Amino acid sequence: MKGILFDIQPFSVHDGPGIRTTVFLKGCNLRCYWCHNPESQRMEPELCFKSNLCIGCGACAQACPKGGARFTEHCDACGRCAGECYAGALSVTGYALEAAGLVERLLRDRALFERSGGGVTFSGGEPLLQPEFLQEALTLCRQNGLHTAVETAANVPWARIEPLLGLLDTVFCDLKALDPELHRRATGCGNRTILDNIRRLGEGRAAGRQVILRIPVIPGFNDNEQELSRMADFIRALPYSPQVELLPFHGLCSAKYAMYGRTYAAEGLKSPGTEELRRFSGLFSGIQISFKGMEAFT
Ligand code: SF4
Ligand code: SF4
Repeated sequence: MKGILFDIQPFSVHDGPGIRTTVFLKGCNLRCYWCHNPESQRMEPELCFKSNLCIGCGACAQACPKGGARFTEHCDACGRCAGECYAGALSVTGYALEAAGLVERLLRDRALFERSGGGVTFSGGEPLLQPEFLQEALTLCRQNGLHTAVETAANVPWARIEPLLGLLDTVFCDLKALDPELHRRATGCGNRTILDNIRRLGEGRAAGRQVILRIPVIPGFNDNEQELSRMADFIRALPYSPQVELLPFHGLCSAKYAMYGRTYAAEGLKSPGTEELRRFSGLFSGIQISFKGMEAFT
C-alpha cells in the first residue's frame, strides 16, 4: 500500500521519547490559520518555488505544457519545470511510497533508536487520513520492534482511530479550543468529533497508551484564561490522566507560505513569552504540563 508523504525527518527530539525519525504524511482536513506546515495541508503533490534561487532563465515556462502555470489552478504539479530548473529553485513536494519501502528506510536508524530509547513518529498533516497505509506501516514497525507514536488532530471517525491503537505506544493529540464556534472559525471545522475522540482515548483498546494532549497557544485565538481554563476543566474530567504540552505559536513560516504561492494568515502575530506561558500553565493545576524549554511540572 502506498502513502503520500512530504518528508522523513531523522534526529527528531520533540515528537516522543528518545531520538526519533518523524514521517510526515501529506493531507489535512483542518485549515488552522496559524499552521506551520502549509505543504502538509493538501493531499496531492504541489510545486515549491524558492525565489531566492531563481536566476530568471525562463526554462520553467518553456518546459510547462500549460504555458507557465505555476501557482495557478492549471498547475497539476507534473514537475516538468522543476526538471528543467538547473538553479534548483523549483521542486515538487509530496511523493508516493510503499509502506514496506518506508519501513526499510526507517530500520536504517534502528541502532540510534535502541541507544536513545527512540522510535518512529507519524505526523502530518493528518496521518489518520491515510489509515490503510498507516496501519501497514505501523504493523511493520511493530514486527521489527520499533517504538511507535502518532501526532493527530483526531478530526476523523473513532472507527479509524481504534484499529490503530494496538499498534501505538504514544498518541499525541491536538486540543485547540473547547468553544465549538471559536474552533470552527480558526480551523474551518467544529470540534465535536475531536472532543469525543479525546474522551475515548482512555477506553478499551486505547487504555494503557501514553496520551499527550498538545495545546497550541495562539495569540488572539485561545491565549486567554477563559478558554484555557475550559480546556483544563475538560482534561480534569477525562476518565484518564493525559500529559499536556503547551506549544507556543511562532511565526517563522511566512517564507514557507510564499514558496507555495500562498499568504500566511497569522503574519505578524507575536509569540507568547515565557512569563505568559508560566501564567497559563498555572491554570492546569493537577495536570502534568510542560512547555517548550521548561521542565515538566504539576
Ligand atoms: S509543475 Fe507542471 S504544470 Fe505546474 S508549472 Fe511546472 S510544468 Fe507547469
Ligand atoms: S491540523 Fe495541523 S497540519 Fe492541519 S492545518 Fe491545522 S496545524 Fe496545519
